[in-house]
Amino acid sequence: MARVYNWQIGREMSYWYPESRPKRQFAAVFDLNKCIACQTCTLACKTTWTSGRGQEAMFWNNVETKPYGFYPLGWDVKILQMLGKGVWRNGVYEGLTVFEAVGRGERVLGFRPEEADYAYPNIGEDECAGEVEKGVYLSGIHDVWMFYLPRICNHCTYPACLAACPRGAIYKRQEDGIVLIDQKRCRGYQECVKACPYKKTFFNPVTGTSEKCIACFPKIELGMQPQCFENCIGKIRLQGFISTPKEAREDNPIDYLVHILKVALPLYPQFGLEPNVYYIPPIHVPFSFLEMMFGPSAKEAVERYQAERKDEDGRLRGLLALFGCTPRTVERFKIAGGEAIAMNEKGEELVRVPVKEPVFIRPGFDPASGVARLNTP
Ligand code: SF4
Ligand code: SF4
Ligand code: SF4
Repeated sequence: MARVYNWQIGREMSYWYPESRPKRQFAAVFDLNKCIACQTCTLACKTTWTSGRGQEAMFWNNVETKPYGFYPLGWDVKILQMLGKGVWRNGVYEGLTVFEAVGRGERVLGFRPEEADYAYPNIGEDECAGEVEKGVYLSGIHDVWMFYLPRICNHCTYPACLAACPRGAIYKRQEDGIVLIDQKRCRGYQECVKACPYKKTFFNPVTGTSEKCIACFPKIELGMQPQCFENCIGKIRLQGFISTPKEAREDNPIDYLVHILKVALPLYPQFGLEPNVYYIPPIHVPFSFLEMMFGPSAKEAVERYQAERKDEDGRLRGLLALFGCTPRTVERFKIAGGEAIAMNEKGEELVRVPVKEPVFIRPGFDPASGVARLNTP
């Protein structure tokens, strides 16, 4: 095992291979306050990449309801139980990662789900934590909660799937950090399925190989956002590239949200993979739950998100307005003249949107047409 630095857990850790960061790292931010679980992303991926034989129960993109939704069944609860409770102190994770909690001769702590665990991708949908008393649901704010969690492969900096593969069939591209499975080398041993704590590699019984999200790399190479991003109805997603904390740039949208404003957090950083999909946590969920899922700074992230969003000309509000507004990859952004402007790597403009959404209030009666409108207050 090599020693590598993982900034998300604030310390060095053990990993099967030495540290080797790509030239650029594919990354994304999902704003969980906006997801409506319409599953358009799921279908966009399914119809593009996994409509073949052997892929029937395979969803490279899935959306589950937390706390009771899982795909596959119990994926996070099981690995959290195996890892045990780990303590965070001053931003440093003092528990064991999946690479450190292993027995002799093993590379990664994990488990392989049963075939039936993939059969209910929508289990727990819309189920709330807690109960609403009969008759009180229209009388005020109640404290039951749930939220939707869309998930794709995290194209991790330290992929467990890659570390576990005895065939060396999994590789991380130097040009963009995307993690892929070489279908010619894979022999279907499913060590990656067992190792990935996010359960984002899948076994195809027809081809006898494992498959996973490919980050729509043919689109990335053209400067386009992936299918599940471009088609997101709620405009909750933005794809780009992330720098290391030391090299963070104010005009890079992902760096800004993750490193500078610190409102977007990795999913289960304690696993130790340095995942590269980041989430703006939901504002209505107990902090204890959010801290278990997104690390110890979840409370500050939610509070900062709420405070910054109130600034009507602010950078956060402008940047959030750019989510889902262009099919191109946004590598830079700026706010000028009340508009948020998205740019490509060369600084060429892709799209501009108003930071503050214009609101037009129409009168109830339109004298020009002599009609009364019913849909006005
Ligand atoms: S398309 Fe967007 S809003 Fe709809 S479920 Fe997927 S992530 Fe959520
Ligand atoms: S999320 Fe899982 S499948 Fe994707 S790179 Fe990380 S370990 Fe591999
Ligand atoms: S990035 Fe592409 S391959 Fe990956 S889940 Fe989204 S649509 Fe599917």
